[in-house]
Formats: sequence, structure tokens, C-alpha cells
Amino acid sequence: MSKHEHPLGISFEFFPPATEVGRDKLRHTRDALAKRQPRFFSVTYGAGGATQLRTADTVAMISESRINTAPHLSCIGSDKGELRELLVRYREWGIDSLVALRGDLPSGMGGAGELRYANELVEFIREETGNHFEIAVAAYPETHPQAASAAKDLDNFARKVKAGANLAITQYFFSADAYFHFVEQAQALGIEIPIVPGIMPITNYTKLARFSDACGAEIPRWIRKQLETYGDDSESIAAFGEEVVTRLCQRLLDGGAPGLHFYTLNQSAPVLRIVDHLGE
Ligand code: FAD
Repeated sequence: MSKHEHPLGISFEFFPPATEVGRDKLRHTRDALAKRQPRFFSVTYGAGGATQLRTADTVAMISESRINTAPHLSCIGSDKGELRELLVRYREWGIDSLVALRGDLPSGMGGAGELRYANELVEFIREETGNHFEIAVAAYPETHPQAASAAKDLDNFARKVKAGANLAITQYFFSADAYFHFVEQAQALGIEIPIVPGIMPITNYTKLARFSDACGAEIPRWIRKQLETYGDDSESIAAFGEEVVTRLCQRLLDGGAPGLHFYTLNQSAPVLRIVDHLGE
């Protein structure tokens, strides 16, 4: 980030690995990315007991790096007692940032829990812990897939800010205009917190297409068509992805984005190739 000294800088997101091999790999990824002095690392949180324990274990491992670590916490499917316990534990560990989400219930899993939406989780965290935590929430430049309309989704985003969020991180997108439009709309509603673009490197077309369908992120036709022509040629996919995503990041920074949050998928190389191009 040589020429781009942004107050929020860059941050990197990991998921909790399910195996020892995955944990070892993540340790290496953590160490490679820590050298770039990110503002924070974050660790995602799954719905369901086993994956939730893995988040806490992974938070402990990631915070050994001495980089500020922000656990994600989602309210759907959890009761207040479970959430309270986690807040106490994270405070004891010296954690002071969280990413607060509603989450998604895996099909077949029971009721929604006591808190239905992320704004209620932010309120709960503030009630329980005052201003101890810096709280980030999710934002959707291309609209959350379950939202009744773009305007309603924006109102719901505003509820989270009103409840006490300090920062927003967006779902990933490939259209810089969608981001700039969203930020303008949010500012028109009086929202002043930084809205940091979430960046997804492109390394595997099949996985990206599946993810994007599920979370409502649009892969522009020209990108899809180009990726389709590469078939299984992962080198060409990586080279094209690097170019497209680097250009997107540069446009976002040049247009005033207050930092970049990378969805690393626990891999350092694709993200580092992009970060190292920025400001060239
Ligand atoms: P909300 O803000 O609650 O919004 C969910 C939907 O409900 C939206 O359509 C919104 O318009 C609507 N809505 C919101 N509030 C209200 C209200 N009060 N009344 C009526 N409607 C309302 N998922 C995980 O399981 N674990 C993770 O670690 C995780 N990390 C993420 C990190 C980022 C940066 C992002 C962008 C997403 C992440 N997700 C994660 C995915 C997220 O949980 C899903 O996108 C989920 O469907 C919505 O979560 P949310 O916090 O945005 O929900």
C-alpha cells in the first residue's frame, strides 16, 4: 500500500479450518499476511455448535500474531446466553473488535433464536458491553438477496448503524459503480461510518459462481464469459482474476474507499499479488 496511506488500511478475513492440516496452512497464511501490517484479521463464524467452537479456537491462534483480531459473531440460531458467554470470553482475551452479523441458518436447523436481525445483535452487544468493542456490520452494495427492495435494505443497514456499529464491510462485488452508488445513498441518509469494500480474489470460477449465486453478488457477463473460456486452466484464471480485481481495488481507492477488506479463503498468494500491485 505504498502510495495509499488510508486511515483504515487493509484487513484480511479467514474461516476456521476443520482439520489440523488446514490449521497449519492458516498459520503460514497468517504469518505471510501479518507482514503487510493489516489493520485487523477477522475470523468467520458458522451456525451450529462445532463450527462456533472452531471460531474461538481460530481466533486464539490468529491473535498470537499480535495483529488485532476481530471475531465474527452471528445471532441467528444462538440464544442470548451463548452470545453473552462469547462476549465475556473475547473480552477476557483482550479482543476489542467484532463483526456482528445475522448469519444464515443451514437448511434443517431449528428456530431462528432470540435475536432475529443484525441490528438486534448490535443492540445486545452494546447493552452487554457498552463501548468496549468496535463493531463492524455487513453492507450490500448490490442489495442483500432477501431484501424486499434496495431502499428497504438500505434502511435496515441504517438500523445497524443507529444501534451502534462503527464500521461496515461490504459483501464482495465486481462493479465499483455499485459501491460508489451505495456509499452515496448511505451518506444521503446521514450515515457517516466508514464503508469498507469487501474484496474477493478470483482463483476458481466454479466456486466463485456458486458463492455468488448464494450471496447475491453479480459476476459481470464479460468476466464470466472470459473465465468460461479458460476451463480448467487455473493459471490463466489466476492471471485474469489478478488483473481484474487489482483494477477494481485501485478504482475503489482512487474514488475514496476508506480501506479494503480481503476475503482470503485462507490463502495468502492471490491476495498478496493484488496488494503488492496497488499504488504501482
Ligand atoms: P441483517 O443486517 O440482519 O439483514 C438480513 C436481511 O434482513 C436483509 O435482507 C435486510 O434487509 C433484512 N433486515 C435487516 N434488519 C431487519 C429488520 N429489523 N426488520 C426486517 N428486515 C430486516 N455469515 C456467517 O454465517 N458467518 C460469518 O462469519 C459471516 N461473515 C460475513 C462478513 C461480511 C463482511 C458479510 C458481508 C457477510 C458475512 N456473512 C457471514 C453472511 C451474512 O451472515 C449473510 O449475508 C446474512 O444473510 C445476512 O447477515 P446480515 O448481518 O447482513 O443481516
